[in-house]
Amino acid sequence: TLAGEAWSLPEIERRRVRILEPLGEGAYGVVHKAFLFKEVVSSAVSLPQTVAVKVFRLPLRGAGIRDILAEVSVLGRVRNAHVVSLVGVITTEFPLCIVMELCTHGSLDGVLRRHPGLFNSARLLMAHDVSCGMEALHAQCIIHRDLAARNVLVDASFRCKVADFGHARRVDGTTEHSHAETDRFAIRWVAPEAVLTRRFSYSTDIWSFGVLMWEIWSHAVLPYHGIANDDILSHIQEGNVLARPQDCPKRVYNLMLSCWTEPTARPAFPVLHTSLAALLDDPGTA
Ligand code: ADP
Repeated sequence: TLAGEAWSLPEIERRRVRILEPLGEGAYGVVHKAFLFKEVVSSAVSLPQTVAVKVFRLPLRGAGIRDILAEVSVLGRVRNAHVVSLVGVITTEFPLCIVMELCTHGSLDGVLRRHPGLFNSARLLMAHDVSCGMEALHAQCIIHRDLAARNVLVDASFRCKVADFGHARRVDGTTEHSHAETDRFAIRWVAPEAVLTRRFSYSTDIWSFGVLMWEIWSHAVLPYHGIANDDILSHIQEGNVLARPQDCPKRVYNLMLSCWTEPTARPAFPVLHTSLAALLDDPGTA
């Protein structure tokens, strides 16, 4: 199969999947809750696994499929509690599907909007979890490029998992959601040097993580709200940064500020992870 030969992804037989209700809609298709049944090896009845299945909209051109599978294969390489895990793919028949771990609470921005009264300890745990997942991605030489609360998923125990990485590369200029449309929103999360050069790096992910932390303490309102997209780069170049959210402890805000420094001065994810774990342990902040 396309998946097996080129990317050694686990291929799942469609008859093992029963699609249930939709969970959300993305640029490429609809994500459904689904049951994944075990291979029929005996007559014994076994309970299916509950999963999330991304069903890609048709028509998807050949190159598009290859791009998506290349990205998914990256996902398949990372095994970390804070990176959404891949179960398998369906590529032998249309529509193309990606079967992944179910995160019942959906994306982090939605959770933040629905729960405006979260304690600092809960917010710190969210930031901590994302730093863990990002540490794992960077350890595998993967740059996310589109880190934002909307691209983090929340599981049944309210633990966060980085999802949708490589999103920027998956975008195909011929699909309905063009690059330009994605960029309209993404610019608020992108480091200024990447806006200028279009080059992403480990340190541009760290900038985005600072913005994501700001979202965690701001109930996921739009960063730099009130400022037009076209004015954001100059706003940052003039030395402005996102203001400290109302209930955000100073030490947490200092971490955000460290993410918005010169590229080489930004703390790497292992450092952010350790700092957030220490803040979580400290009753003064948590
Ligand atoms: P996009 O293409 O915009 O990045 P996706 O297609 O990945 O978005 O996902 C669309 C929506 O489906 C998400 O916002 C989220 O609410 C939901 N979703 C995606 N993956 C999962 C998952 N593994 N578990 C639960 N919900 C998910």
